[in-house]
Amino acid sequence: MKKILILGGGIGGVEAAISAVKEGFEVELISERDYLFVYPVSIWIPTGEVRSEDVKISLEEIAEKRGFSFRQGKVKEINTDAVLLEDGKEIRDFDYLIIAIGQQKLKHKGIEHTLSVCGSPEEILQIKERLDSLIQNGKGKIAFGFGGNPKAPEAVRGGPVFEVMFNVHNYLKKLGIRENFELTFFAPMEKPGARLGEKALKMMDMMFKNMNIKKITGKKIKEFREDGVLLEDETFISSDLTLFTPAGDGHPVIKNSDLPKTEAGFLKIEPTCQVSGIENIYGVGDVCSIEGPQWRAKQGHLAEVMARATAHNIAVKEGLKSGNFETYTDHINIMCLMDTGNGGALAYRSDKKAVLLPLPVIGHWMKKAWGIYYRLNKLGKIPKII
Ligand SMILES: Cc1cc2nc3c(=O)[nH]c(=O)nc-3n(C[C@H](O)[C@H](O)[C@H](O)COP(=O)(O)OP(=O)(O)OC[C@H]3O[C@@H](n4cnc5c(N)ncnc54)[C@H](O)[C@@H]3O)c2cc1C
Repeated sequence: MKKILILGGGIGGVEAAISAVKEGFEVELISERDYLFVYPVSIWIPTGEVRSEDVKISLEEIAEKRGFSFRQGKVKEINTDAVLLEDGKEIRDFDYLIIAIGQQKLKHKGIEHTLSVCGSPEEILQIKERLDSLIQNGKGKIAFGFGGNPKAPEAVRGGPVFEVMFNVHNYLKKLGIRENFELTFFAPMEKPGARLGEKALKMMDMMFKNMNIKKITGKKIKEFREDGVLLEDETFISSDLTLFTPAGDGHPVIKNSDLPKTEAGFLKIEPTCQVSGIENIYGVGDVCSIEGPQWRAKQGHLAEVMARATAHNIAVKEGLKSGNFETYTDHINIMCLMDTGNGGALAYRSDKKAVLLPLPVIGHWMKKAWGIYYRLNKLGKIPKII
């Protein structure tokens, strides 16, 4: 039986492992943490609606239920025929390698004065602590923002920033102290969120107005300071807590490798997810450069599409099944259930459509239900439905 080694136990790596087992391969997954962190449901940690533990799924448990082996380890170096771990171990016993180690974030001047809603599990807990302490004080100024990467426009991560901001607004309102807080949103692009279409932008503007959130866009960020954000035109956003999510940047392991990569350090792959020019290495999810329309975005559901296509394509290559190679580029769309804490909106973008469907109340519970479904499905307790 041919062996596939998968690096990274996030949404893409785990789906690749499950799919590769189904295709009849021996599979080993290596990841630095011993759990899968389900980022889409981590947005409720700052406001205390879920605990960090509720967002984690043990990789050991998924591996046992899904028939692959798991090893905890941090990848230091990737070569075409070997993977080196931080602890000095070298792994060579694989026929195929699937790289799914995600992306890093761009560095900005003074970034240490900010926290990101898309950060590590520890960083997200720090946001909760800082927010709790402002709530104890009974007042405060909170600035929310996200940045862009001109070398990789698809690596912008704005959705979760909007979600956490709307959740914080509704949480403060529920506590009866919203009027004591000043919430400001900032972003360097003229129209943040534009990839969701004009209708979505209009709706978002209305939400900003209704929630009394100040909006400053189209101004580059000069630096972050302990007490706020300085913009290029010397505008200063005074803030007690700055929640900023930089755009994605290539993973250092990829940047330091000989693998084909873009200027921003993302893995160059073919539409079949095979790393360009290398027969036995594939890339899945945020670690890759994504080709496609201007509005394309890196998302969990795309990482899963890439994972399944990769397992299928290796099986076809190995003659385990017949059929054509599958390509992720045929499935590029944006599908996002944007949560607001008291409801949500379903955003969908494809070449043909840009839809934003408001889902008051039910939208929130639909996203909650998705989180439960995702956990049960990964643990093999219920079949895949989406
Ligand atoms: C807060 C938030 C909310 C989101 N909401 C949505 C949503 O609603 N819908 C949606 O479709 N997408 C959403 N996304 C995007 C989605 O989560 C990502 O696109 C998806 O997680 C990408 O999967 P991945 O496997 O490529 O990377 P990741 O999920 O980041 O997984 C990478 C894995 O590799 C591991 N790793 C990294 N470096 C190493 C190393 N050197 N050695 C070993 N292991 C390593 C990491 O620990 C991690 O387990 C959200 C993202 C965030 C941050």
